[in-house]
Amino acid sequence: MPRRNALIASIEPELWAQFHDHFKPMEFEGGRDLHRPGDEINLVQFPTTALIALGVETVAGESVKVALLGHEGAVGAFEACGSRQISYRATVQFGGLVWQSPAQSYRALYEASASLRSAVHRHMESLLAEARQHAACNALHGVENRLARTLLDACDKSDSLKLPITQQALSELLGVQRTTIAAAMASLQRDGSIRTDRGRGVEVLDYKALEAVTCSCRDSLAFARHDIESRRAETCAS
Ligand SMILES: [Zn+2]
Repeated sequence: MPRRNALIASIEPELWAQFHDHFKPMEFEGGRDLHRPGDEINLVQFPTTALIALGVETVAGESVKVALLGHEGAVGAFEACGSRQISYRATVQFGGLVWQSPAQSYRALYEASASLRSAVHRHMESLLAEARQHAACNALHGVENRLARTLLDACDKSDSLKLPITQQALSELLGVQRTTIAAAMASLQRDGSIRTDRGRGVEVLDYKALEAVTCSCRDSLAFARHDIESRRAETCAS
């Protein structure tokens, strides 16, 4: 079950056998803060079924969610081996399971495992590519296209078509007013792509129809990730 997380799955079996006792599962409910900016990293957290929102807070007290993190990565995977401090807010967006390792054990495992180091570097490259693409997307593409992209990303990262996500959370993720999100969702609902329920969030009814609405950023990111994987394969082969 913990190896459903891509970083944990990358660990060599003999090292996993040695270190797996250090990983403990925790069930978190949506809305729970895992970290605030400035927190010291004591635990590295690997979601398997939970989805984590990463957010930025300004010195004026404003906050905005900038990325979603699921079973492809971990909270604190870079920082535990660097500054040992978190610079963003990490909040559980969709409740579920997170596997936790003490930062000290994680650092020992990171030193021992070439596969984990490689997977963490690829994860960092993917997150940077995602941040660049999202900055371009916010400047270039319409709200409905961006909403479709965000919903599909959330489906992919949580392995679910039922997304317990509110209009408020989506407005924070897309950096637009909630009324603008409500209008874009109403349009997608009329098309039959999604169904919204005030209490339960959003259900994606037609993944392919939503793909047709989304902007080109999903394709650009898929290409960037493929490029990262190909270059890694070439580097490992040479
Ligand atoms: Zn876009």
